[in-house]
Amino acid sequence: MKNKFDEFYFENDTNYPANVYWDLYDKNHMEAIKKYDGRMFCPLCKLAPLTVAKGNQRRYFKVIESDMEKHDIECSYRHKKATKKETRNFYKDLDATDIRNRLVSCLNEMLKSAQKDTNNGNLLMRGEKHGKKIFLDIKGASGENKYLPHKNFNSKNLEEDMDIQKIYYGKCALYIYKYGPKDEIIMYYLKVLDENSKKQICEISISPNVYNYLSVELADIPEDRNKSLNYYLCFSGILEKDKYSYKCKLKDSRLMVLEKE
Ligand SMILES: [Zn+2]
Repeated sequence: MKNKFDEFYFENDTNYPANVYWDLYDKNHMEAIKKYDGRMFCPLCKLAPLTVAKGNQRRYFKVIESDMEKHDIECSYRHKKATKKETRNFYKDLDATDIRNRLVSCLNEMLKSAQKDTNNGNLLMRGEKHGKKIFLDIKGASGENKYLPHKNFNSKNLEEDMDIQKIYYGKCALYIYKYGPKDEIIMYYLKVLDENSKKQICEISISPNVYNYLSVELADIPEDRNKSLNYYLCFSGILEKDKYSYKCKLKDSRLMVLEKE
């Protein structure tokens, strides 16, 4: 099956979730087309152009067949997505240092703006960023390259293949809720909010044992929802749907990286 992208790289800027396009499109489709069409590219390698599928039922971005060769030679989207079984095997035999490095690369490559050239302040041109692009690649069952399932949690289709472990990432606002009687905290809940609307996207539960390894990184996160701070966040886990939002249990401290925006 062809890749359907639910985020896009906007020329010389950064990646955006698809709804940034569709929100403008629904308000004023001419404006959206003028602003974005022809200037959107593969969110990973920033080189292959994205084409917009504007169906009544499904809206998405794709790279048309004749543009497939325009993906960077290392771009993971040249490969197929790992199957559920391949993904399960990858996480079963997890090398914790390896996954942490992958999440750090994911946070840098998928969420941060085009890097400034520190020498003269000029923006690097699209595709000039020399970041590692193979952070999603794993070996499939028959030895071929596949890419790990992943999703920007600000895209609106989190229910898709929810039972498969994924790397989730996005810009968000964070606060933390510490649960327990008096002096004893029995669970930490990291609340992930939409940066603009402050609506809760998901909640990540962290046991005190896992929290200990992350205490330095989590120390600055406010406990007051009204003081939530903007962060880049990337974690790997299985989402479940709750009454109010999605939730995820953090199984290992190395399955999450975060950085203040
Ligand atoms: Zn690409």
